[in-house]
Amino acid sequence: MPNSNVYRGRFAPSPTGPLHFGSLIAAVGSYLQAKQMQGEWLVRIDDIDPPRELKGAADNILKTLEAFGFEWDEDVLYQSHRQPYYQEVVNELVTRKLAYPCSCSRASIIKKTGSAKGDIIYPGFCRNGPLKKAVKPAEYSIRLRCNSEPIIFKDTVQGQQTFNLENSHGDFIIQRRDQLFSYHLASGIDDVEQKITEVVRGTDLLNCTPSQIHVQHTLNLVSPQYCHLPIVVNNEGQKLSKQNHAPPISAKNSAELLYKTLKFLGQMPPIDLIDAIQKDIWCWAIKHWRIDLVPAIYQQGIN
Ligand code: GLU
Repeated sequence: MPNSNVYRGRFAPSPTGPLHFGSLIAAVGSYLQAKQMQGEWLVRIDDIDPPRELKGAADNILKTLEAFGFEWDEDVLYQSHRQPYYQEVVNELVTRKLAYPCSCSRASIIKKTGSAKGDIIYPGFCRNGPLKKAVKPAEYSIRLRCNSEPIIFKDTVQGQQTFNLENSHGDFIIQRRDQLFSYHLASGIDDVEQKITEVVRGTDLLNCTPSQIHVQHTLNLVSPQYCHLPIVVNNEGQKLSKQNHAPPISAKNSAELLYKTLKFLGQMPPIDLIDAIQKDIWCWAIKHWRIDLVPAIYQQGIN
């Protein structure tokens, strides 16, 4: 049982491919924030979307983390092992009418609302019962009701944030039609149940945070602190990701990559650390980590 006064951070990769420089930034930032607070740091594998996953990726990620010198507390939590529990939560939310089955397809919502493809705001067509009666429950997705109450939080790096879920997302999916659970549901629940005190990750996930906070509020859970780090973008302004062909990182040049990561995160490692071994870089970083130096957005070269 974790001590409730202890800072607990986490790194929660999805096993969709090997780690790249973008994921290393989130791993390093969350690790140093935890180490600096004499806290604990956990690794969770967010394996809730098998169609997007790559065989062997979870093991590969863990081996790479190890080779980079990360040390985690507690056993790794695999979200795939939590499915029966997520199902219980979803059933309970439906029974309490806080969530409901929905028969609308993406295409039909776009057609009816005129929203752009990537920006669907679901206005609750099925709130009073699915518009189309399905033959099997598996033909419905499950949506969580949201409301117009603003979601306000102070992000450690990005500052004050105010979102209105009703205007930005509408009732969102917590269980897909193919029965898979959404990232918002699983992460919103697990961050609290793992007693994470601060979630440190990339700003690409800032927009997901209000939905996760809403999951927590609906379940009467106390939300952790959130901290969104700047992300690396390529020349076209896209974030580094497997889809954008970000090259995997290799532990062969771990010291150099850790040095680059520290610079990217606004830290000021001394120049002679460039040639240092991995262990010495970690020693310097844990001792000198300052979250107040981390820029909100990507500002400087990483070379
Ligand atoms: N599993 C998510 C991803 O790899 C990140 C989860 C998180 O840090 O909240 O993009």
